[in-house]
Amino acid sequence: MIRLTEIKLPLNHDEAALPAAILSKLKIKPEQLKSFSMFKRGYDARKKSDIQLIYTLDVEVEQEALLLKKFEKDQHVKPSPDTSYKYVAQAPQQLSDRPVVVGLGPCGLFAGLLLAQMGFKPIILERGKEVRERTKDTFGFWRKKPLNTESNVQFGEGGAGTFSDGKLYSQVKDPKHYGRKVMSEFVAAGAPDEIMYVSKPHIGTFKLVNMVEKMRANIIELGGEIRFSTRVDDLLLTDGEVTGLQLSTGETLPCRHVVLAVGHSARDTFEMLYQRGVYIEAKPFSIGFRIEHRQSMIDECRFGSNAGNPLLGAADYKLVHHCDNGRTVYSFCMCPGGTVVAAASEAGRVVTNGMSQYSRNERNANSAIVVGIDPERDYPGHPLAGIELQRVLEAQAFVLGGENYDAPAQLIGDFLSGTPSTEFGEVQPSYTPGVKLTDLSKVLPDFAIAAIREAIPAFDQQIKGFARPEGLLTGVETRTSSPICIKRGADLQSLNVKGLYPAGEGAGYAGGILSAGIDGIKVAEALALAMLAQNQSA
Ligand code: FAD
Repeated sequence: MIRLTEIKLPLNHDEAALPAAILSKLKIKPEQLKSFSMFKRGYDARKKSDIQLIYTLDVEVEQEALLLKKFEKDQHVKPSPDTSYKYVAQAPQQLSDRPVVVGLGPCGLFAGLLLAQMGFKPIILERGKEVRERTKDTFGFWRKKPLNTESNVQFGEGGAGTFSDGKLYSQVKDPKHYGRKVMSEFVAAGAPDEIMYVSKPHIGTFKLVNMVEKMRANIIELGGEIRFSTRVDDLLLTDGEVTGLQLSTGETLPCRHVVLAVGHSARDTFEMLYQRGVYIEAKPFSIGFRIEHRQSMIDECRFGSNAGNPLLGAADYKLVHHCDNGRTVYSFCMCPGGTVVAAASEAGRVVTNGMSQYSRNERNANSAIVVGIDPERDYPGHPLAGIELQRVLEAQAFVLGGENYDAPAQLIGDFLSGTPSTEFGEVQPSYTPGVKLTDLSKVLPDFAIAAIREAIPAFDQQIKGFARPEGLLTGVETRTSSPICIKRGADLQSLNVKGLYPAGEGAGYAGGILSAGIDGIKVAEALALAMLAQNQSA
């Protein structure tokens, strides 16, 4: 197969244009082209009146070797790489040791699935409930029912990404094409085929719920075991090696190989690990607000008269501004046509995040507008100090919101002019249980408020209307990534605890669904190889 990259065609091209572009690029006759398939489809919307689709195609041709030779200096004509996944290990039949995976978010899901596919029969422990029950608790909280601190947006089957926009792209380097494995497992579990080739795939909340259930069934069919409502409360160690886990059910589970994929909100688990002496460092993360605009304004600004074209979908954006006070403000986790969601997992705290359905057809666009912070400047002195800072900000938001899980909010115009808001403009808040209009400058440190006040007008230069006074800010956004890193060595085990594999977002090795899934695969491979080596030397 030959891979052609950067094949550009107008947005509204007809079907025949694609094979015609291949023939023209390779300078071949129609009978020489045997077949072709789409590997990626993106778009270039820098010129709104002339939006281009950009294809990466795999083509099968007569005389492939000859053509590759002819185009050897062309960066856009190369042999198609083999992106298929190859298992690194197979568990021997008599293996009695079973690996344990803690957490059933995307990282734990893929670590568990891969271990199961390689025959290692993992035991997966998840503090929250199975996804249908969890959905009831989470949506219940959004409808003013009490917060269940073990079953919510952060905790439960599927992990933090279940009630999300389901964006499936990442900036991580992926030379072994693990991302394709993640995507193909998602498709096998019911995700739309297009996630394999569109440049910014997304799935949306309801599809994710069904997929997670199918993947669970697959793991169980392959000999894995999943225990819900089972929190790991303690780590049992002997001479710096894992020997077991103490569970919230009262059981002690002996084990020697543990994938720790607990996500960024498992604050009690981080404290326990710290007490047990697991090496942890503080790491940078970001704080800020969710911003909401009318999606139609973003579509119009990005796509002009092409807004609404199904190949483009609802428009997104990605913005960065370097501020005079040395801080950087950027947009994060943009959810086109979505809603702002209550993402708390602790009582007396308010946290925002965003989600959308596959259709992305809600009225508002939202994204987090956040300021980068780091341990040296902002929370020095203790590996867990970032968690304390998050707690303080989330508690302030709870108080400012009226102490009933409503979130504090302010119109953009009022925020920029330093005036508390009293009534909504054209942008109605999508956050439930509800919002309380107030003065958001009280909820974040002064440097962060100054930076966001500088950045919003700067973003308006790129997206006209971004600073419109009627837009809405809701707070606070604190769980952009993990405030800690549980350092691991080249063998992917904790630097000072053998048999412990810190993984995914909570350990500081992923940021998003796709990268968490990729990290789950990497760790499953490392663990499987270590178990095989141990088994052979026994
Ligand atoms: P998590 O998904 O956090 O999973 C950790 C799991 O561990 C949880 O299920 C938790 O219950 C369990 N757990 C914790 N402690 C214990 C314990 N002691 N014992 C047993 N189990 C435990 N990313 C994207 O790429 N695209 C998006 O569109 C997107 N939208 C998001 C929207 C929302 C509302 C949220 C909250 C996040 C979103 N993210 C998105 C981020 C993404 O969800 C995370 O990056 C990803 O889920 C991290 O995966 P993980 O497996 O490392 O951790």
